[in-house]
Amino acid sequence: MTNDMQQIATLLLQKRDGKGDFGEISHLNGRECSKAVANQFLICCLLDFQQDADVAWEKGAALVKALGGAEGIWYAINAHSKGEWESRYEEFGKPHRFHWAYTRIWGIANAICARYDGDARNIWHGRSPYDALVHLRAVGAGDQISGMIVGALRESGQIQGATGDVKADVHVRRVFGRAIFGDEVEDVDAAKIIELTRQLHSADPWQLDWPLWNLGRSNCHQTNPDCKQCYLRIHCAYHRKHSDTSVMTPS
Ligand code: SF4
Repeated sequence: MTNDMQQIATLLLQKRDGKGDFGEISHLNGRECSKAVANQFLICCLLDFQQDADVAWEKGAALVKALGGAEGIWYAINAHSKGEWESRYEEFGKPHRFHWAYTRIWGIANAICARYDGDARNIWHGRSPYDALVHLRAVGAGDQISGMIVGALRESGQIQGATGDVKADVHVRRVFGRAIFGDEVEDVDAAKIIELTRQLHSADPWQLDWPLWNLGRSNCHQTNPDCKQCYLRIHCAYHRKHSDTSVMTPS
């Protein structure tokens, strides 16, 4: 690992204080989570990919409300045939910008009703982070979202145990790609990002997730990254490469 990489890891970890906000569950500080809070948390997380996080959580909350509340949401979804569920996409306000991402909720709801009694807590309660990850993947949450959920559950004290990976979403890939590789690498394999974050902070790579994500939202924009205000700039390969030119907009 280069000195710049070490410095980048140190700076990111120093900015760890913000933490992600995953709704009510993030404010429980380890207190027992209700079924409704857990279900709402999970459905919002399932919508939180390839669309703006704030939009995802607003749409998740609206979907929960439209279906009569979080307590029985998986059964409410399960009461639809797949065709009925698909046909209500627009009526529910297009909960995800991709129809298929909305449709997949139906399959996940079926699994949660069949295996976890319609209660998201049963997916992770009493399990290690790794076991929780395995169960989340098995219901169809997907690798990245499952990792994010486990990280949030650890952070909120709902599960205990070591280490989780970052969710290598578009913000994390962009910041990391620029800072380490010096180029636009948003299409870089998520597995590569995960491997590098494991090298940077092997004790708990998840700790890098929020600072990377937050930097992607606040400074390291897709176009015209605000490098002057960025705490990584001294060690950032992209900034170094482009700082002697007037052009900061990626091609
Ligand atoms: S210095 Fe610029 S390019 Fe590098 S991480 Fe910060 S905002 Fe992104």
